[in-house]
Amino acid sequence: MSGNEGVGVKGSAWDSAIRQLDEAARNMNLDPGVHEVLRHPRRALQVAVPVRMDDGTVRVFKGYRVHHNTSRGPSKGGLRYHPDVTLEEVKALAMWMTWKCAVVSIPFGGAKGGVVVDPKQLSGGELQRLTRRYAYELLPLIGPERDIPAPDLGTNEQIMAWIMDTYSTREGYSVPGVVTGKPLSIGGSAGRSLATARGVMYITLATLKHLGMPVEDARVVVQGFGNVGGGTVDLLHDQGCKVVAVSDVQGGVYNPEGLSPTGLKKAEEDNGTIHGYEGGEAISNEELLEIECDVLIPAAVESVLNEGNADRVKAKVIVEAANGPTTPEADEIFKDRGIPVVPDILANAGGVTVSYFEWVQDLQAFYWSEDEVNNRLRMIMETSYVDVLQLADDKKATMRTAATMLGVGRVAEAHSTRGLFP
Ligand code: NAD
Repeated sequence: MSGNEGVGVKGSAWDSAIRQLDEAARNMNLDPGVHEVLRHPRRALQVAVPVRMDDGTVRVFKGYRVHHNTSRGPSKGGLRYHPDVTLEEVKALAMWMTWKCAVVSIPFGGAKGGVVVDPKQLSGGELQRLTRRYAYELLPLIGPERDIPAPDLGTNEQIMAWIMDTYSTREGYSVPGVVTGKPLSIGGSAGRSLATARGVMYITLATLKHLGMPVEDARVVVQGFGNVGGGTVDLLHDQGCKVVAVSDVQGGVYNPEGLSPTGLKKAEEDNGTIHGYEGGEAISNEELLEIECDVLIPAAVESVLNEGNADRVKAKVIVEAANGPTTPEADEIFKDRGIPVVPDILANAGGVTVSYFEWVQDLQAFYWSEDEVNNRLRMIMETSYVDVLQLADDKKATMRTAATMLGVGRVAEAHSTRGLFP
């Protein structure tokens, strides 16, 4: 296909997203017109976010919000606070959200947002002022019927609470459905904070079962110890897996006999990092990815598995908790080496699935128990896993291509059924 949207820096998230879409489109003989539509984000907003800092100076931060596609419903996607955020990255993440919502059959399109900032460098007051002003600048795009943000890298439930309050102040009444991943006290859902990690756990268990590998003592390596990585470590440890290595942005720790999730959490609370945790040997993030293990779970940032290291990865299977951790070049290498990759748009879809439950509960003002949330989540994750696996078998495709085909097919059907305006 032609078109400017195909131009992405090699190795970048946008380059990966476009190439994955093109590969799926080729495999499914997608209508060229629909393919061209899906290669472009529907709309992208760039905003300047001026913030009064604690020392009295004013700094201006750059922010974005992108809606990739809204054929299946309002757009849904996280907000990222990270110094490396770019418009291209946000576009890629929004496109992946479109396929993800379709893979798990929830009635949303895909969106993503981000601010170029290191939140750890801001005080609580600065973070709140930044968030409220950014939310204000997004008012033309967001709303419970239009676009519903959620937490992602560098954001959390407190940030969602400030966005909900900013939006509600403008409306004059409480609008809990404008964001998900909120605290329970203002309309959050039971089970949301651990939902992405819980979904990763269900998918990891299903993968081990499918590959005939035992869960007990399965050696797991996790990159990232935030909301998703930290939760995944806890939940897989509870299932009997042996978590042998974990890292955060500063570095990692390795112990072939297994790490203690409680010890890791305490180290993080005490020192702000798990690097230097005494229960194992200190390793770099690069070394962590190359440790011999059963399951490698990247749960931090994009493109960490690439042509530079894919040959040296010694995991038996990769389950993508992060968005876009594997480049297309690495995918090819893993395919040749027979290492299955369970793709992000399936493996980490638990978060958006419970966000959907939260939105439904907010619209109805009727709340569910945590068991009800977790059971419904498990059903959706397991069904989606089987859907993707069957398509991969039928088409002799990788799970990534099969999942993308499934997502793209459902979006294309909605788009074609509605028809092209005007
Ligand atoms: P988070 O901010 O809570 O945690 C991120 C973790 O990654 C931290 O431990 C941080 O130190 C580490 N990290 C950051 N940069 C790193 C680097 N360059 N190398 C190694 N580690 C690094 O973020 P999160 O919400 O856990 O999100 C992690 C990933 O999961 C992201 O790719 C995000 O898009 C994806 N994801 C999150 C959700 C969700 O519900 N939060 C849902 C789906 C997907």
